[in-house]
Amino acid sequence: MAFSKLEELELKEKRVFVRVDFNCPVKEGIVTDDTRIRASLPTIKFLIKNNAKVILASHLGRPKGKPQKEFSLEPVGARLAELLNAEIFLTDDCVGDGARKVISDLRPGQVALLENVRFHKEETDNEELFAKKLASFADVYINDAFGTAHRAHASTVGMAEFVPVKAPGFLMRKEIESLTPLLKSPGRPYLAILGGAKVSDKIAVLDNLLDHVNAMLVGGGMAYTFLKTLGQGIGNSLFEKDSLEAAEKILKGAKARKIALLLPVDHVISADPKDGSDAKTVEHIPDGMMGLDIGPKTRELFAKEIARAKTIFWNGPMGVFETPAFAEGTMEIARAVAGSGAMSVVGGGDSVAAVNKAGVADRIGHISTGGGASLEFMEGKQLPGIEVLDV
Ligand code: AMP
Repeated sequence: MAFSKLEELELKEKRVFVRVDFNCPVKEGIVTDDTRIRASLPTIKFLIKNNAKVILASHLGRPKGKPQKEFSLEPVGARLAELLNAEIFLTDDCVGDGARKVISDLRPGQVALLENVRFHKEETDNEELFAKKLASFADVYINDAFGTAHRAHASTVGMAEFVPVKAPGFLMRKEIESLTPLLKSPGRPYLAILGGAKVSDKIAVLDNLLDHVNAMLVGGGMAYTFLKTLGQGIGNSLFEKDSLEAAEKILKGAKARKIALLLPVDHVISADPKDGSDAKTVEHIPDGMMGLDIGPKTRELFAKEIARAKTIFWNGPMGVFETPAFAEGTMEIARAVAGSGAMSVVGGGDSVAAVNKAGVADRIGHISTGGGASLEFMEGKQLPGIEVLDV
């Protein structure tokens, strides 16, 4: 794919519409984690510096197609104003006369933030008339929202067709440039580490990764469906009956391709994932107990594979890391990945939270801002929000 370069576009006095991913956690009207806002600052600052009229659009939460105060972008606008030390003009709606007036009054170097695009059902429906309304605000369309690049919505895909000039923002470009080598030409051995709760969410990526990786580590709740397939007792651990067959197919696929697929050999168990006062390490999970973290032997086994790898893709925690008694497996994997010297990519909110918690984020090659999007990218799928920017 070939993209126009933001730094080569004619921006002066142009209305530049930027689809950003400002879907930040908000509590009582305050943004509690501004990572996503900060991630798009390079693009926004560049546009301001180049005297563009900047129009930002984003979704926040799942307002289900109607305006709801709790999903307003107002707190995001307030935080952005602080970060840029500039006034942000928030529109009362993302389309309509109010928004049009704000945009026509914008002076070069000023920034408008459209109210939540998902206040309209037409956004997620990728409805054409709505897409045209958004496009009517723009001379140039920039997509910097990698986190929603796997969704074909009006502001991420539909409107791009109606704007003459389009390009990825700096964040989007960094994501594409960091993830592409993992698909096309990874340093070897290439290791994938997958964890988290649901196998069904990750079957497709596991399947596709088999064609790319040399080894795979599977931990977290999803490991138990695999262990059950192998006839092991898993007590009350997470188990997806509907994914048994798929897990079996993946194990067979790994074997046929001579890919080492490692599963946990010991577990931290407890009766309650939220407590852990009864936590202990076992190799065989007794009835009534749940496997909630990888045990020390597994950590060692996994760390050895990690140390050998030249490329690592990690998605999903190794245990219920939100509870301190079950966090150590994930923390140890985070430290091992950071210390490995491999080109590492971590994607997915929980794994990113884990590397932050372990204090090793600065030693990770690339921390992806898109969980679902990075997984679909690694599945080898064309993401519609990226495809539409192709020139
Ligand atoms: P996912 O969104 O599929 O990446 O799953 C992330 C969630 O998986 C986190 O909230 C973890 O607490 C949870 N998780 C990880 N390991 C386990 C486990 N062994 N049992 C239950 N939940 C788990």
